[in-house]
Amino acid sequence: MERVKLGRSGLEVTKIGFGGIPIQRLPEQNAMEVIKSALERGINWIDTANAYGNSEERIGKVIQSFRREEFLLFTKGAGKDPETIEKQIELSLKRLNVDYIDLYQFHLVPDRETWQRMVDNGTVERVLAYKKQGRLRHVGATAHKLEAALATIEHPEIEVLQFPLNFIMTDDGLKALEASIKVDAGFIAMKPFGGGELDDAPCCIRFLLQYPEVVTDPGFESVEQVEKVLSLCEEGAPLSERDRAKIEKYKEDVGTRFCRRCGYCSPCEHGVDIIPLMTMESMIKRFPAETVLNGDQSRAVESHENCTDCGECEEKCPYELPIRERMKAGVEMFRELKSRFNRRYA
Ligand code: SF4
Ligand code: SF4
Repeated sequence: MERVKLGRSGLEVTKIGFGGIPIQRLPEQNAMEVIKSALERGINWIDTANAYGNSEERIGKVIQSFRREEFLLFTKGAGKDPETIEKQIELSLKRLNVDYIDLYQFHLVPDRETWQRMVDNGTVERVLAYKKQGRLRHVGATAHKLEAALATIEHPEIEVLQFPLNFIMTDDGLKALEASIKVDAGFIAMKPFGGGELDDAPCCIRFLLQYPEVVTDPGFESVEQVEKVLSLCEEGAPLSERDRAKIEKYKEDVGTRFCRRCGYCSPCEHGVDIIPLMTMESMIKRFPAETVLNGDQSRAVESHENCTDCGECEEKCPYELPIRERMKAGVEMFRELKSRFNRRYA
C-alpha cells in the first residue's frame, strides 16, 4: 500500500490507518482478529485514545505478536492540565504495553482559548518533556472546530493535525488541510465515513485519495471491512461521474441533517450542550451503550431541559440544520437506549 510522509514528523504511514473506536463494541476475540488482520494486511499505523474504553488494552495485547518496528502507534489524551495529561500518558503506555508511542495527540482541543490555557499552564510542556525522554516520539492535536485546529498547528511543536474531512465535511476540512500543508504538519482525515453517516465506501475512500497529503484511519468492525477498504485504496480509482452524482445526492439527503460538529451554533446562552445531542445517532452506532449513557450525551440530555426553543442556534448554523428537531430526536434516542440497557441488565 502507498505510504505518505506525515508532514514534518517524517513518519511514513500507509494511506489507510486503523481507527480504534469500533473495536470497543466487539467481543474481545473478534476485536483482536480485526486488529491482527489489519496489521497483517499491511496497515502500518494504529490510532486510538485514552478515552476509547478498552481499545488501548486490546491493541496492546495484539501488538505483542508483532515486532515493534513493524507498526506505528498513535494515541491521544484530553487532559487540560499537566497532572491529568501525565496520568493519561502513563496509562496509555501501560495499557498499550509499549516503551514509546509514535504520535501523541492532544485530543479534541475545543477552542483557541483552551489551547492557549494548555500552553500557559504547562500541559503542552509536560507532553514535550515525554518527547524529550523518547517515550513519545512526535506530538499532534485533534480538533473538530477550525479555529481550534488552526491554533494548535500555529504551535511549532505540533507536527500532525487530525481533523474531520469527508465529502460532506469539506468547508472547514479543506481549510484545515490547506493550513496544515502550509506549516508542513501531517494531516489525518478524521471521520472518513462521516461518523457512520456515509455508507458508500468507494465514494468515501476515492474522495480522500484525491488529496496526496491526506491519510485516514477508519474504524473497522470486521476483517471483511478491512479487506474492502484496503482493496479500494490499492485500486486507487478516481471519483467517477457516477460517484460524483452519488455524492451530490448524499449532500442533498444527509447534508440537511448531518452535524459537522463545527460548533458555530454554540454556546447556547441557556446552557444547552447542543453537539452531543445532534450527534447522538452516530455515537449510539459507534460506541458501547455504557459509554454513551455515562458520557457527554447523558449530561447533554439533562441540559436540554433548559432549552427555551428560541431558535438562535439555528440562525447561527451555517448548514441550516433543524437543530431543535434533531436535538429532540437525540433525547428520544438516548431514552430508548437507556430503557433497552436497563431492561437487558434488570
Ligand atoms: S448544529 Fe450546525 S453549527 Fe452546530 S455543530 Fe452542528 S453543523 Fe455546526
Ligand atoms: S433553541 Fe435556543 S435555548 Fe434551545 S438550544 Fe437553541 S439556542 Fe439554546
